[in-house]
Amino acid sequence: MEERGAQTGIKVIIVGAGFAGLTAAIECYRKGHDVLVLESFPQLKPLGDVISFGPNAGRIMARWGKGSIDAKLYPICHHNKELNFYKYDGDFIISQPVYPWNKEAPSVNGHRGEIHEVIFRHAQDIGIEIRLGCRVLEYVEESTRAGVVVDGETIWGDVVVGCDGVRSKARELVLGYVDKPKSSGYAIYRAWMDSKPLLDDPLTKHLVDNGDTHTGWLGPDVHFLAASVKNGTSFSWVYTHRDDADIEESWSFPGKIADALKVIEGWDPVCRRIVELTDSCVDWKLVYRDPLPTWVSKEARTCLAGDAAHPFLPTSIQGASQAMEDGVVLATCLQLGGKANVPTAVRAYEKIRYARCRRAQLLGEETRDMWHKADFDKIKENPSSILLKRDDWLFLFDVEKDAYERYTDVVKELEGDV
Ligand SMILES: Cc1cc2nc3c(=O)[nH]c(=O)nc-3n(C[C@H](O)[C@H](O)[C@H](O)COP(=O)(O)OP(=O)(O)OC[C@H]3O[C@@H](n4cnc5c(N)ncnc54)[C@H](O)[C@@H]3O)c2cc1C
Repeated sequence: MEERGAQTGIKVIIVGAGFAGLTAAIECYRKGHDVLVLESFPQLKPLGDVISFGPNAGRIMARWGKGSIDAKLYPICHHNKELNFYKYDGDFIISQPVYPWNKEAPSVNGHRGEIHEVIFRHAQDIGIEIRLGCRVLEYVEESTRAGVVVDGETIWGDVVVGCDGVRSKARELVLGYVDKPKSSGYAIYRAWMDSKPLLDDPLTKHLVDNGDTHTGWLGPDVHFLAASVKNGTSFSWVYTHRDDADIEESWSFPGKIADALKVIEGWDPVCRRIVELTDSCVDWKLVYRDPLPTWVSKEARTCLAGDAAHPFLPTSIQGASQAMEDGVVLATCLQLGGKANVPTAVRAYEKIRYARCRRAQLLGEETRDMWHKADFDKIKENPSSILLKRDDWLFLFDVEKDAYERYTDVVKELEGDV
């Protein structure tokens, strides 16, 4: 079911069964470590709406289950040849070709809950212990071990990985202080729906009646993305807009369709009709955090991964992908370092990941500014200026190979730093 390296005897406790936690768990299993995952949700539920993984993350998933994961993802994902951009008033700008599905490194776009379920089930099927309904309330560490407190009991391991998302509790132990998020000044209206109402409406029929489509509209300080999925039968839309409300970040905060429509007053009737045909949406307030000075605790027995370490702006389209890369690098470093060198391996993990991750994070800000501050006269002269960046350094990257190749040099650098 899953290839596995020689047993290392390293016990890894992972907090959070999102994409960061599950990837860390599967990769630790593959590299011979013992794994325990603790998740506060009492049961698996298909939460969220659309999520995207670049080919750099698709490559990770494609290696799991001897190719069986790829086969499970294909039918639930978005398949299309291009992303069509329009000005907010409906004027066509340009079409951007997208990577076709590549079995070795697919771009994976679909419903977060459905993709999450495939990976969650895979982790369970290969025998990883995932305890649901376990909220970690405290993190503890000593020079030789790290632990978590759940229901009054302390569970110890060689290393604890906080994959506990944007409101991470593990971050407090790692940083030694509570890191408060700031308002980003933006929020996102988002929805996932059955395509039937769009199919029945002449204005929107073309978006869903012939397989999957992907469309973007750009306007002042707002961008709207819409995609049909599963051969046009499901539909998702999201739009980022200015919003200074000081409300906690939540995936379930309900939005009002009437308020959402006010943001796109005077926009392309196609775009407005999509929203008018939607029953309900989520109003997701985007918070911002400065990059953390470190992802690793003082004793280097506790570390952060995924959103806990580095929340991303959605315009980077890399948040979930970078969360997955973390898990691969951490598991590889622990394998190469061995049980006697866990702190060195954990520090090497951070050193390998930090700069690449930051570079990917900054892409999100660049793309947001490029779209939200678009000068449409200039775009007329050079339509390709608004295309999404698809840089090779990001997408064609093999994170596992890179970690195996760089570990020894990075450890030497770390030893030089001491
Ligand atoms: C419910 C939900 C819906 C989402 N929907 C979308 C979406 O539609 N589109 C999108 O692009 N992104 C979505 N995201 C965010 C996206 O999954 C992440 O940005 C990205 O995948 C990185 O994942 P992560 O594992 O680092 O964080 P997360 O996906 O946030 O996972 C963190 C996990 O840690 C668990 N956890 C937190 N604290 C504790 C604790 N103290 N003890 C035990 N467990 C804990 C949480 O329950 C959660 O399962 C969603 C996240 C969540 C939690």
